[in-house]
Amino acid sequence: MNIHEFQGKSLLKAYNVEIQEGFVAETPDQAVLVANQLKEKLGSDYFVVKAQIHAGGRGKGGGVKLAKSIDEVGVLASKMIGMQLVTPQTGPEGKRVNKVLIAQDVYYKGESEIREFYISILLNRDISRYTLMYSPDGGMSIEEVAEKTPDRIFTEEINPGIGLQAFQCRNIAFNLGLTGTAFKNMQKFLAGIYETFTGCDAQLLEINPVLKTSDDRILAVDCKVVLDDNALFRHPDLANMRDLSEEDPVEVEAGNHNLNFVKLDGNVGCMVNGAGLAMATMDIIKLSGGAPANFLDVGGGANAKTVEAGFRIILKDHAVKAILINIFGGIVRCDRVANGVVEAYKSIGAIKVPVIVRLQGTNAEEAKEIIDNSGLKVFSAISFKEAAEKVKEVLSV
Ligand code: GDP
Ligand code: MN
Repeated sequence: MNIHEFQGKSLLKAYNVEIQEGFVAETPDQAVLVANQLKEKLGSDYFVVKAQIHAGGRGKGGGVKLAKSIDEVGVLASKMIGMQLVTPQTGPEGKRVNKVLIAQDVYYKGESEIREFYISILLNRDISRYTLMYSPDGGMSIEEVAEKTPDRIFTEEINPGIGLQAFQCRNIAFNLGLTGTAFKNMQKFLAGIYETFTGCDAQLLEINPVLKTSDDRILAVDCKVVLDDNALFRHPDLANMRDLSEEDPVEVEAGNHNLNFVKLDGNVGCMVNGAGLAMATMDIIKLSGGAPANFLDVGGGANAKTVEAGFRIILKDHAVKAILINIFGGIVRCDRVANGVVEAYKSIGAIKVPVIVRLQGTNAEEAKEIIDNSGLKVFSAISFKEAAEKVKEVLSV
């Protein structure tokens, strides 16, 4: 699960990591109000207005703007709230900005002594460890650094059993070129972000930039957190941070029905039980000349209800020219699924696209009979090859 920058920063703060302070606002009036509060708290007239969307690269897309007065905060916020922000990570349609973070401009003093670092911690399944990745060349062109000067990206492997060690923190601060107070502050910063990462059961915690201020403070200017969905049950407060407006509405609906759904851009909708079978089904669709419109795993307990929900979700996509249902009756019996398909088909009504049903496993023959005798425009198949040929057939008419 992804969360917003302002939420990630609130987690960092709770773990005593220093952050660029700020408040979130949903209207221009609110933005002015919180800018006043920020001024009272910190005594500064320099602000930054930051679009809160679940995508990075906001700086490049015009989603991070500096303001030198409270009036300017209001103007910038009214421009930003409601806009469709396009960044290198959003795709050409962009993302709607519903909230902005009004934060203190932490750069304006002593620009020359300021430095931007990149630091992230991620769950690295390849080595069964956490990897802490960092670079002295943080900021908006970190992708370019990775490509052109990969020797400027360093890593530390962390054994989760013993955690981030003091010698590793010293090594990191040294490689970042820090000395004195900044070196010390970096130790505390690293310990804090590691605590945040493990404490929240995150999969990724990325801070770019980490700022060294002119007075040698080390603080998080940005924050991207990806939480582990499987651990959310341990963190109801974090689960509450979910922002459904940032997620694909069809994927949200599928999630509500416990369906694993990923939208793709082809023309054949598919409904399958089991991720492996779903992958194989997408392959046969390709081989038969189509392209999958989605990945949809209905899970082990497919019944009439889940089949119906799956149908409805697939039919929301107008690019779909045919639907292939490919279910293996192992735990679930094929005749039950077949009845489910027929029921769902009747209850949705007016399904215009051809539906090909391949049921294999327990009671497959009965299932085929049920489909064939249903009187509906549903084609049945038993073998994979047959199903692929049917797909080809219906796509070519
Ligand atoms: P991202 O582009 O989505 O990663 O958003 P960031 O929060 O990282 O902001 C983008 C860039 O804006 C940063 O790399 C900084 O260089 C700049 N920036 C962010 N906050 C401030 C600030 O308070 N003052 C100044 N001058 N620049 C800032
Ligand atoms: Mn950033």
